[in-house]
Amino acid sequence: MNAVTIKIIYDNCKIDNTFQEGWGFSCLVDVGHRKILFDTGADSQAFHANLRKLGIRCEEITDVVFSHKHGDHTEGLEDVVGKLMPDSRLFLPKRFPPKKIPSHVSTTIVKDFHEIDAGIFSLVLKGGFLLYEQALIITTPQGLVVITGCAHPGIVNLLETVKQRLQQPIHLVLGGFHLFKTKQSDVDTIIHHLKALPVQIAAPCHCSGEAAIKRFQDAFEDRFYKVGTGTVLTIENS
Ligand SMILES: [Zn+2]
Ligand SMILES: [Zn+2]
Repeated sequence: MNAVTIKIIYDNCKIDNTFQEGWGFSCLVDVGHRKILFDTGADSQAFHANLRKLGIRCEEITDVVFSHKHGDHTEGLEDVVGKLMPDSRLFLPKRFPPKKIPSHVSTTIVKDFHEIDAGIFSLVLKGGFLLYEQALIITTPQGLVVITGCAHPGIVNLLETVKQRLQQPIHLVLGGFHLFKTKQSDVDTIIHHLKALPVQIAAPCHCSGEAAIKRFQDAFEDRFYKVGTGTVLTIENS
């Protein structure tokens, strides 16, 4: 397998002022033969400006995975999907509101667990009333890379389920952990669970909340990655 490169297109924070930030999340996961867009953020103009800045063209995206239906992850969905090339694929979690999807894009509703391509998986868990959330998982020689939108099903629940289903160590988890309203003692319990699992590297962003991100930084030390809009992260294949 090729190296895996993650480019963060939309997040609450940005790595420098040439990018536009906003509450929401979007990233591109490039595994070489597949370029998978995960969510589209909350603002189409900022999304496309950041996309250009990162040198990504909509036409090169082979697959689009939406984590869940919330507006800070799905703005401009139909516009982006409309720009995809023939044979592109769209993966939605169940209970996702109906959208106008052009016929040249094949749509899969993921109910539980799905193999998107060799070594690339999606997992859908219940995240609340009528809310299902999809996480993206890529196998690498170092272990699993897990991309999460908001982690509404619970970050510990999500990662425990991933580990149980795939029986492989978790190398990196990146995305929203949804801890911005969680009290500090509960955040510390979650960090303890993640370290015990173990999660090798934590890269919380989006709805993880600044206070929780700081706790992760203190706990994971050099195994914590500070990420935001504009981050380009490569996981080598050896
Ligand atoms: Zn969110
Ligand atoms: Zn959400």
